Amino acid sequence: MNVRILRPRRAAPADAVRPTRAEINLAALRHNLHVVARHARGAKIWAVLKADGYGHGAPAVARTLERAGADGFCVALLEEGIELREAGINAPILVMGGYYGSAHGEVLARGLTPVVYDGAQLEAFARLVRSGEVEGPVDVHVKIDTGMARLGVTMDELGTFADSLRHYAKELRVRGLMTHLAQADALSAEETREQVRLFDEATAALRARGIVPDVRHAANSAAVLRGDVDIVDARFDAVRPGIALFGVPPLLLSKDGGGNPVSDELRPVMRVRSEIVDVREIPAGAGIGYGALWRAPAKARIATIAMGYADGLSRQLSNKGHVLVRGKRAPIVGAVSMDMVMIDVTAHEGVSIRDEVVVLGAQEGPLGKDAISAQEIAGHAGTIAWEILTSISRRVPRFYREP
Ligand SMILES: *Cc1c(COP(=O)(O)O)cnc(C)c1O
Repeated sequence: MNVRILRPRRAAPADAVRPTRAEINLAALRHNLHVVARHARGAKIWAVLKADGYGHGAPAVARTLERAGADGFCVALLEEGIELREAGINAPILVMGGYYGSAHGEVLARGLTPVVYDGAQLEAFARLVRSGEVEGPVDVHVKIDTGMARLGVTMDELGTFADSLRHYAKELRVRGLMTHLAQADALSAEETREQVRLFDEATAALRARGIVPDVRHAANSAAVLRGDVDIVDARFDAVRPGIALFGVPPLLLSKDGGGNPVSDELRPVMRVRSEIVDVREIPAGAGIGYGALWRAPAKARIATIAMGYADGLSRQLSNKGHVLVRGKRAPIVGAVSMDMVMIDVTAHEGVSIRDEVVVLGAQEGPLGKDAISAQEIAGHAGTIAWEILTSISRRVPRFYREP
């Protein structure tokens, strides 16, 4: 079966008429890889590039990271793995989501490594070998559920699953063993330590049945970067950083919701900018935008920006968030609409049409110098930086920069 990839048909830089764009800084990406590698203490780096490389454009990100020394890549979907292969990526690619539909043969034909955790997957891959369609044994990574309760073989099912693996010993070879940490960003390392303990227990149980993987991996960005000595074990043979590569430090969260970044060494990779397309003076009391969610307390100067919620500027930022104009913060006023948003530039001297507006990232201008992080936006929008980055939509062309 041939999988047709539904490519995100994103606006190409050459077609960009509107001045709204995401600039991807490839030097910052390489810098972050080196930071992560230093913290990984010898473990291999398998960069997680699901959801189009966290919205940065998986092919370009993968090419840059592969050249800079990343050992492999992880994706959530088969389609994402195919996209990387078609982009010329030669490094190992792990398909973590485990959903292959009826395309198991396609996974192998594309040179992708499947993650497996249920008997039906084992049978499907083994059948391809038995029928002579593919040459065995097929390399797989087995996923263990040690506390995430999402995907993976549970500790209770482990014995039965191991028996199945032995049954398919001629057809399948367990190359890797993985688990996913649910609370690596928690202030307390207790839960992570327990997951590591269960992972070790699962490893021993499989070993007792003659199943010995070459590599074990568990650590996401938070687990790689956090300093506590007792989590160092979680690095195992390979680590799976995602968000840190894009310059967002996960926060060590306390129970009351406060958080401290695990690292201050990372550099943001994505900068989103647009331009002012209209400036107008409004009288005191005038309402702004749909529902007049904001009314001018006094005579005000309002600028309109060519970016809205359909571009990934969350409507949650209505009356809440900020953008940068001429190097200084300007508040978003009124409701964010689909393609545009208004800001209050009453305090911004010299603002005019075509001025650059930075929605995410840093700006320096005649009025100062400031930066807006994905974490800050996430705070306003009631979500996490992961969602902010992956929400920048396909209407926004990505421009790759090598400063
Ligand atoms: C997304 C994901 C990662 C990477 O997580 P980050 O917090 O972005 O570093 C690692 N492993 C699995 C299984 C994932 O789904």
